[in-house]
Amino acid sequence: MKIGLIDVDGRNFPNLVLMKLSTYHKTKGDTIEFINIMKTYDVVYNSKVFTYSKDSDFSVSAREIIKDGAGYYGSDIFKKILPIEIEHIKPDYSLYSFIKKYKGCAFGFLTRGCPNKCNFCIVPEKEGNIKAYADIDDFLDNRKIAILMDNNVLASEHGLKQIEKIVDKKIRIDFNQGLDAKIIAENPDIAKLLSKVKWYKPLRMACDSKGQMEYVEKATRLLRKYGCTPKNYFIYVLVKNNIKDVSERTQFLIELKLKPFAQAYRDFDNKIKITQEQKDFCRFINVRKILLNSIGIDWKGYKRSTKEWKKSNFKKEDKDLF
Ligand code: SF4
Repeated sequence: MKIGLIDVDGRNFPNLVLMKLSTYHKTKGDTIEFINIMKTYDVVYNSKVFTYSKDSDFSVSAREIIKDGAGYYGSDIFKKILPIEIEHIKPDYSLYSFIKKYKGCAFGFLTRGCPNKCNFCIVPEKEGNIKAYADIDDFLDNRKIAILMDNNVLASEHGLKQIEKIVDKKIRIDFNQGLDAKIIAENPDIAKLLSKVKWYKPLRMACDSKGQMEYVEKATRLLRKYGCTPKNYFIYVLVKNNIKDVSERTQFLIELKLKPFAQAYRDFDNKIKITQEQKDFCRFINVRKILLNSIGIDWKGYKRSTKEWKKSNFKKEDKDLF
């Protein structure tokens, strides 16, 4: 069979579903490639992670067109993601070999689900409570770097054992969905374990509400005490309509010498519109923070100086941040 693939999110970050489908079809002797619109296929798979990615509008010549991946489910969260024989197959890393910055990286999940119930998050409903999912060796493929997409790996005994294994294997890792600051803050042994990890990217946590500030502060203190040495600490900050609240959180993080990264809140079905103020605040934090910190301008000062800032070309630089 001739199989075509479409990565609806764009081909900036490897799509795990497509990489697994690629291995699956290659083992069956099928040919598989990102589609060429001049060709005809037996099956074309569309996959996306983000609900807001728009389907491609070019016409596809195929006997069957299949759509899969978390981005298609919207609130229909109980749809099956992949058949079990594909779900645990080793990804075909050659599919994205053209992305140089991820050359030599493995991708996968050690755990699925989360025991928390943050009211803005679909994970607990979609994946349920935390559970073991895979061993690092299932998808590492002898690579020295692993990008792990677990939602709350520290809440799982299996996840912690896997981190110990990763430390022994001297693999560099990035938990790109972040680590739970509360768990680190309340468990010095976990902070010690994380201090032995070789970080590929910054260590990431989240400060999505004021209630998380004390945990981020304590977790950072413990991690620093045990000599945890990522390049830096990167803190996701959820930006809802209450800009005063998020402004206080980001200022708090800056004072702790942490790097906030502001993300405007999106609901899973894309029904809630992101306001201009939310967008401006994200730009203020994500694009201008280094300059603004150095000259001591806060959000209010930034707003007062809108005219001056409008002359700059930050919009062009930052069009992908939302
Ligand atoms: S801790 Fe993270 S994954 Fe778990 S419910 Fe909250 S936001 Fe979602």
